[in-house]
This record gives sequence, structure tokens and C-alpha cells, in this order.
Amino acid sequence: QTIQPVYNFNAGPSALPAAVLEKAQKELINFRGTGMSVMELSHRSKPYEEVHNQVIERLKKLYSIPENYEVLFIQGGASLQFSMVPMNFLQTGKKAGYVMTGVWSEKAFAEAERLGDAYQVASTETDKHNHIPNPNELNYNEDDAYLHITTNNTIYGTQWKDYPDTGNVPLIADMSSDIMSKPIDVSKFALIYAGAQKNLGPSGVTVVIIRKDLLEKANPDNPTILKYATHAKNNSLYHTPPTFGIYMLGEVLGWIEECGGLEAVTQRNEEKAKLIYDVIDNSDGFYRGHAELESRSLMNITFRLADEALEKKFLAEAKDAGFVGLNGHRSVGGCRASAYNAVPVEACKALSEFMIQFQQSNH
Ligand code: PLP
Repeated sequence: QTIQPVYNFNAGPSALPAAVLEKAQKELINFRGTGMSVMELSHRSKPYEEVHNQVIERLKKLYSIPENYEVLFIQGGASLQFSMVPMNFLQTGKKAGYVMTGVWSEKAFAEAERLGDAYQVASTETDKHNHIPNPNELNYNEDDAYLHITTNNTIYGTQWKDYPDTGNVPLIADMSSDIMSKPIDVSKFALIYAGAQKNLGPSGVTVVIIRKDLLEKANPDNPTILKYATHAKNNSLYHTPPTFGIYMLGEVLGWIEECGGLEAVTQRNEEKAKLIYDVIDNSDGFYRGHAELESRSLMNITFRLADEALEKKFLAEAKDAGFVGLNGHRSVGGCRASAYNAVPVEACKALSEFMIQFQQSNH
């Protein structure tokens, strides 16, 4: 049976690089001469530990992570981090500020409120989360336990371009939907977390990059598994890690290296997003972008058409033409093209051409 090729614009889990899938397929049954699949190896065995440590090294190298940070692999998705962050750092009698830029910040804030004294530093809700607040105009307290931001808002299609300089206040970021999409200065952050399933690999692994001094500041009364220190002390091998997901994450990072590193990836992401934003901007209002220009995400491109009936027609015809995952999130409707790292330029080119043709036939 021949399988129709698709253009995968899913928001998450999302496209993986074809080269990575092919390599994983080749290695699936007999992993590097072990006679077993990587999934069948003991997580205490040498061949697995080599994979595990190489992934950590690749992350450190690609992001130039300073020596005073730990890279951890935790399960439970980014959603567990919504709770784990306040459980560890908000039990100290201090407050934590949250910048509310979308549904995921709201979810993170809701968990923090349950566990400690959290407040909203800024919110873009009244503008339907169509922009990012000015990072230099955030009003938080200088003695807060931390400041939390969501660097890319998957649902609304907005992205922080500059991050706030928070001085002594630890900056904590949910980077689930733009991790490894561009170079960043890790030293600006005290903790970064990201579910792997958008830019890094399959679901099941959450990457946490944490500054070491935070490990000592964390609440000592947490359950063992929910302490960052437990995972740091055990090189993320305290319990059985999601070994296959970590292996795939390593292969995706290897692919980023082969693409020329993060600078090259950013350039490609800019080119891809521009293909689609240009169609929106040149459509005389036929397509209406949701995000304000300076807050536009390179990862999730959100737009609407004149009415729901036309959107339905657009989505149905796009589906027939092989485009997958263009529906907006169920909470906001409309259309969304997620052009994460692994989405090829050709897919964005094909979508931009499809959008132009659709406009010509339906204006
Ligand atoms: N944070 C952001 C920015 C997301 O986009 C998502 C998922 O789409 C999540 C958190 C939730 O991640 P998970 O499903 O890994 O818990």
C-alpha cells in the first residue's frame, strides 16, 4: 500500500525530521550491535548510558549551557512542571509572579496559586493574547521567589523576542513550543522546562535546565521524585527514564548539529514563517493574522478567514490537499500552522501556494 505524503503542521506532538525517523528505523531491532532494540536495553547498561550522556552533552553544546547548570530528563510533561516549579520554589514565604500570555501560562499560574502565593505580573487576556508585554515594563517584586514566563504561546501564536533581565529574581520559562528553535542566553534563566514533543522528539520526556544554586533552595519536604535535586544527583537515572524518547531526542539534536546548529535552524525557521506570513499580509484581509507583527511566533502561525464557514471550507480543502493539523486550538478556533524545526521549507512553500490559490478561488 502506498502512503500519501503529508505536510505535517501539527501543534504537538508534531513533525520529526525524516532523516531521524529513518535512522531510528534502521537501528530499531539491533541497536549498535547490541542485538537488542534501544527500548530493550537496561537503563543501567553501558550502551544506554552512552546514549543518555551524549544527549546531555549535545544539549549543553547546542545551547552553550554554562557549567553551573544541570540538564535533567523528567516525565510528566510540561504540565507536571506547572506544579513542580511552585512545589520546589514557592513554599518559602515569598511570592511568585506570572506573566499571563495565554492558556498555558494560565494553567501554570493555576497550579502555583494552589500551592503558594502567586500573582499576575501582567496579562494580555483583554487583547485575546495577541501580543507579548514589554519585557522592560514588568512590575514584579525584587524579592520574589521567581518570575514565570511562557516563551512561545502555542495557541495564540505569539513569542517573546527579548527576555526580561530579572537580576536577582530567578527567571523561569516554559519553553515547550520554541526550545532549540534559536540560540538563547541560558544564563538569563534560572530554570527552563520543555516537553519534548514539539521541537525535540517524541512525547514522554521533559527537558529541564536548572541553575545549580536553585537545587539547594528548593523545599526539602517534597516527595523524592518531585525534587529537582533527586534527578540532578542521579544524572536523571533515579528511576527508569523514558529511554526511547531520550534516544530520539539525541538523534533530533544530532540532526540540528548536522543542519549547521541553531543559527542555521533559526534562519530556516524565519524563512519558513515568512512564506506564510507574507501570504497573510498580502491577502488584503482575506487572511487575518491573530498576533501583532512584533510578537509573531516563528513556530505557530495563527490566522482567521472572514467567517467560520469559510474557515471550515479552507480546512477541509487543505486536508484533502495533504495538509495536516491546520485547525486552530479547540479553545480559540481559526487556523494555525505549526512550523517547528522539523517542518521542511517545502511544506511551508506548499502551504503558502495553497493559501494563495484558495484565496483566488474564494474571494
Ligand atoms: N506549555 C506549552 C507552551 C505548551 O504548548 C504545552 C502543550 O501544548 C504544554 C505546556 C503542555 O505540555 P504537556 O502536554 O507536555 O504537559
